[in-house]
Amino acid sequence: MVQRQTQTIISVKDLVKKYGQFEAVKGISFDVYEGEIFGLLGPNGAGKSTTLEIIETLREKTAGEVWVNGFNLDKDPDEIKKVIGVQLQTSGFYPGLNLLELIDLFAGLYNRPVNARELLKSVNLEDKAKSKFKELSGGQKQRFSIATTLINQPRIIFLDEPTTGLDPQARRNLWDLVKDIRAKGTTVIITTHYMDEAEVLCDRIAIIDSGRIVALDTTDKLIDDLVASGFERPREVKKANLEDVFIHLTGHALREE
Ligand code: ADP
Ligand code: MG
Repeated sequence: MVQRQTQTIISVKDLVKKYGQFEAVKGISFDVYEGEIFGLLGPNGAGKSTTLEIIETLREKTAGEVWVNGFNLDKDPDEIKKVIGVQLQTSGFYPGLNLLELIDLFAGLYNRPVNARELLKSVNLEDKAKSKFKELSGGQKQRFSIATTLINQPRIIFLDEPTTGLDPQARRNLWDLVKDIRAKGTTVIITTHYMDEAEVLCDRIAIIDSGRIVALDTTDKLIDDLVASGFERPREVKKANLEDVFIHLTGHALREE
């Protein structure tokens, strides 16, 4: 784990989101530190995507305040857009274009010059430069989607369930990619339903349930606190789990070619 910085890059205060009468986000507050991988965990419908999309300037909030990189969401949404990387909807990945052409297209939207080949290389897709999006495997699609978040050289990227549906090899490969991105100085906010993944990747975690944050701390501290409260696993913990068996038998190598 890299040394954590305590410089705040995102600050959310008393954020509320109502859809009609239904309050999906009920006044949450949290800070994200520069250079960390921050996990937003919670059951389906907890309000994770809503929260991320509000910070990403893609969804209106009902109340509260949000700052990103020193910019206030209400006053300077365009400044926020410049420093964040958002996964683009795959519906925008025109079926007839290859990966190089898609990156050039998106770079044009951002009005940024980009070395498309370098970018593909950084997500280990240089061999697929001339392939179309629809021809990629699930893991390759996710890597390409992550590449699109990096086009505008953002300071922060948002990944909403990037590993859902991937096989164990592709999931591990994506963990390495996310760690690489963070190692280059980019702050990462990620949602996932895989607790092993959160444990491996995240420096700090907010657990959100029914629109409220029920815990927020480093991954270690959350686990230590539970143990200190007297929690014990109902049966003896084995030294390996089924996923260890699976990886042991099938290896780490990606199977998507
Ligand atoms: P999560 O990402 O944690 O699964 P969401 O933020 O997608 O949760 O959704 C939170 C709650 O808000 C859910 O109950 C969901 O049904 C509701 N919701 C999300 N988007 C809308 C919308 N556009 N209109 C009405 N309700 C919505
Ligand atoms: Mg969601």
